[in-house]
Amino acid sequence: MPTERESTPPPPGDSTAPAAYPASVDALIAEFARLPGIGRRSAERMAHHVLKSTAEDAMRLADAIAQVKRSVRHCPVCMNFADADLCRICADPRRDRSLVLVVEQPRDLIALEATAMYRGLYHVLLGRMNPLEGIGARDITLARLLQRLDHPENNPGAEPVREVILGLNPTLEGDGTALFIAQELKARKVKVSRLARGLPSGGQIELANRGVLGDAIEGRRGL
Ligand SMILES: [Zn+2]
Repeated sequence: MPTERESTPPPPGDSTAPAAYPASVDALIAEFARLPGIGRRSAERMAHHVLKSTAEDAMRLADAIAQVKRSVRHCPVCMNFADADLCRICADPRRDRSLVLVVEQPRDLIALEATAMYRGLYHVLLGRMNPLEGIGARDITLARLLQRLDHPENNPGAEPVREVILGLNPTLEGDGTALFIAQELKARKVKVSRLARGLPSGGQIELANRGVLGDAIEGRRGL
């Protein structure tokens, strides 16, 4: 039974009034609105774009999403995104496989790759430690990195890792994680360095410009 309130049409121009969308359009708007940085208004504009698109164009978008979820997984060596056995970086024999740059997230790797100044491999931690939130060493992919160091057969080309460059974000948690990893590496025969501090403290690698990142790679310092 509809209540009095539901059966009364909202006054015209009332911004809180529900829009008269079919349920399927409402569902699409709700999905777009869940995307990062997308508010209700942008979500509506995106939905209108889909509604105006040809069926072909709209299905290409839907297929692209489905394809990514079907085929992309984490590279078993470095945890970067991959749609083959290894990611493109680990699979590339021209990369220097004795160098491993450790980052928090795949998007940091993307930003560093855009500088075209680094020719080694990566290791993606998929997070950073944050003791206050109960996120410890077991919640990042550190154990896999240590496996790579201790058992070179796990590194592409079975090449031993000679240098580990810590490329965590210069935040409290990033610094704490880097320190922890540096301690873990101390007993191992591997050179440990850190990206130079061209990066502003509290800044994010993924947002830094290419020049700054390039300098940070070139000017890395031993720990
Ligand atoms: Zn990889």
